[in-house]
Amino acid sequence: MPFPWFGRRPDPQIDDALWRRTVADFPFVGHLSGEDLQRLRELCEEFLRRKTFTGAHGLRITPRMRTALAFQACLPALRLGLSGYDDFVEVIVYPDQFLVKQTRVDEAGVVHESEEALSGEAMDRGPVVISWADAAPGAHRHGWNVTIHEFVHKLDLADGEADGIPPLPRAARARWESVLTAAYEDFCEQLDRVERAIPAHIDPEGPSAEPYYARLPLDPYAATDPAEFFAVSGETFFVAPRRLADAFPCWYRELAVFFAQDPLPVRSTGSDDTAARAAPR
Ligand SMILES: [Zn+2]
Repeated sequence: MPFPWFGRRPDPQIDDALWRRTVADFPFVGHLSGEDLQRLRELCEEFLRRKTFTGAHGLRITPRMRTALAFQACLPALRLGLSGYDDFVEVIVYPDQFLVKQTRVDEAGVVHESEEALSGEAMDRGPVVISWADAAPGAHRHGWNVTIHEFVHKLDLADGEADGIPPLPRAARARWESVLTAAYEDFCEQLDRVERAIPAHIDPEGPSAEPYYARLPLDPYAATDPAEFFAVSGETFFVAPRRLADAFPCWYRELAVFFAQDPLPVRSTGSDDTAARAAPR
């Protein structure tokens, strides 16, 4: 009697050499124990079983690319499991940034259409789209990580709303919302101060303004709305945790509880924000 295969693909195992190379490619997982890394490897294999990868603009997806994307996507889900990613199957990978049509209605009701170059996009109940040039090993700068960013959006969207609040029990949700709001408003004020400090002769959108924005603990894009604040905070939490913990200790702790991970190798012993801020770096 033939084995009932039902078209299922064989389990994609990540071989040892590829796994070691992937771990070395993303050095921000130093907080994980050997046991955690084994768990992450199994989660990546599960992710590869469940998701399909489509190369756009002729991009050929290699095992190394697939594994690198799964690795970064699964890191935030290490303790949460993959259920937050159940609303989609496809990961679309462009070789570089991709253009998306944006429609904006201004206060006078006039519709403006424009094209914006994106590094990543997570669609509600749809695919995750990633630019490989921005997700490849070594592409990360300033604490950015587009793959973690887009998959944190997916965790946020798991309750159907992109509002910066993932599915949480009622009491935890109330606490999350108040800590998120306080950190978000603080960040928006910091951004206002930076924007006011930029001299009139400097284009605030140009490269000369970058040193001013570099004073901020997060990418200015985090001020867009609470959903982007959560996504940008999520990437910074994993890639530049000290920066986030120093700027927003309560928010950092909230994220550490949610992800059930603490990427800081040695935590401050301070029990309140003042102590945490005063802790030696
Ligand atoms: Zn985003």
